[in-house]
Amino acid sequence: MCDKTQRPIVATDEPGFFGIDNYGFPANLDDPLDPPEYYPPYLDTEHFRTYRYHVEELRDGFYWVTSAGYDAAFVVTAEGVIAIDAPPTIGENMVAAIESVTDKPVTHLIYSHWHTDHIGATPVYGPDVEIIAHEITKELLERFPDPNRPLPTVTFRDTYTLTVGGVTLELAYKGENHCPGNIFIHAPAQRVLTVIDIVSPGSATFMHCDASQNIWAWYESHAQLLEYDFDFYVGGHHMHYGTYEQVKTCVEYFADIHEGAMAAVQRFSRSDRLDEILTATGPHRAWVGSENAINSMVNYTVKHVLEKETSDGRLWSDRLAGVISQTKYHAYTVVEAIRLERPRPQAGYRLRGENPPPFIA
Ligand SMILES: [Zn+2]
Repeated sequence: MCDKTQRPIVATDEPGFFGIDNYGFPANLDDPLDPPEYYPPYLDTEHFRTYRYHVEELRDGFYWVTSAGYDAAFVVTAEGVIAIDAPPTIGENMVAAIESVTDKPVTHLIYSHWHTDHIGATPVYGPDVEIIAHEITKELLERFPDPNRPLPTVTFRDTYTLTVGGVTLELAYKGENHCPGNIFIHAPAQRVLTVIDIVSPGSATFMHCDASQNIWAWYESHAQLLEYDFDFYVGGHHMHYGTYEQVKTCVEYFADIHEGAMAAVQRFSRSDRLDEILTATGPHRAWVGSENAINSMVNYTVKHVLEKETSDGRLWSDRLAGVISQTKYHAYTVVEAIRLERPRPQAGYRLRGENPPPFIA
């Protein structure tokens, strides 16, 4: 069937074109401004405007490097430099940042996880670095090879202590979260915790729980983050490192999304109601009905989160950047994760001889 109100998608190179058309999401141009403190002073420096990266010593030789979109880190030791990640968006600027504070060579590289957006510039460190990663990261890179992500030379299963030139980093794997093989990297002396793609300090974090794969394990990792003693958190995004308190704030935000999504699923995900919603759009429109059913729960979750008075009395949109635009995507992901991954005894299962609705909602 052809709907005459729709027009075909036409790809174009026009500067203004950003893939917005009748079929997908509308352009979002009306959101309120982010909290102004989200935008750090380094954005206005001559150095950042010229080179698009910023490097800052967090403590005792542990440095944070950012492109104001992606973050990585390095540690200067008596015997060489340990790099953590190689995001292509920072690329050779990682080397420039290192050379701006030391003339020691990079001897070690830690892969936080296997995703190319965080380690796809590994060749910038040269062919001779020791590469440490979780064994699942190696397995994934063997299955899906990439010349810009060479295989790790050292792997571990549960924990690994890396000591180089008097500096110790404690690596730990607590099971999959954002993706399989994503590790915790703790510098106890410097009190810096690096865990990539869990939360992005100061902000709502990128859509769909940072495009994570196992949402319940990703939620579990929030509590695991807070078990560490740290003053600085390197999260991989967006233009900030975080303090312990800022990580706690992100954890509270996602707890509110969980709370809203649980309420939405309990209230609306009922087989009898689903039947009504699916048939309300008329015949031959079952998929439109299913979109409406899911989005009704998503919208309930979003309203719950955005209108809630948070622990300090303010709204989330006053505390974190990107809340209005990102919350609906998190809500969708968490609603679906509840429906698919959590025990739901109240949903039950079909009994012999019954003639129930076609879906268990
Ligand atoms: Zn990732």
